[in-house]
Amino acid sequence: MGDSDLDVVSLIEKLNRALADEWLAYYQYWMGAKLATGAMKEKVVEELEEHAGDELRHAGMVADRIIQLGGTPILDPKAWHTAANCGYEVPEDPSTAKLLEQNIKGERCAIRVYKAIMEMTQNKDRTTFSMAEEIMQDEIEHEEDLKKIQADIGN
Ligand code: FE
Ligand code: FE
Ligand code: MG
Repeated sequence: MGDSDLDVVSLIEKLNRALADEWLAYYQYWMGAKLATGAMKEKVVEELEEHAGDELRHAGMVADRIIQLGGTPILDPKAWHTAANCGYEVPEDPSTAKLLEQNIKGERCAIRVYKAIMEMTQNKDRTTFSMAEEIMQDEIEHEEDLKKIQADIGN
């Protein structure tokens, strides 16, 4: 059987790490949108708010899949920082240029995280594979959107 060599415990752990990443990415975008100042502020705020909504939706998708696999999603936000792969870039400098730089870094990490989940589940768990692929497409689009604004600002 194709499923026999899928380590579900380890997959659930990976998904929980991704869940922590999504919540931290959500908060980073959400807070960035509140604080943003400087070049192309309105466009940046609009994009950050949109991406925040996407990250929250991703968190929901990942949590649902963890539950379907028989796991428990991280219950205590205190665990987010230690579980996360991508960390949290504190938006201490609210300039749009810095926020874009920090969020692009986060998106590149998120793309790597979902690629790893796709590799682990390919030909073994079609549902998780498709979910990871769908989320990864969003993260690629996020990175591209931010890079376009960054190019417009000119740094
Ligand atoms: Fe995401
Ligand atoms: Fe994203
Ligand atoms: Mg976008």
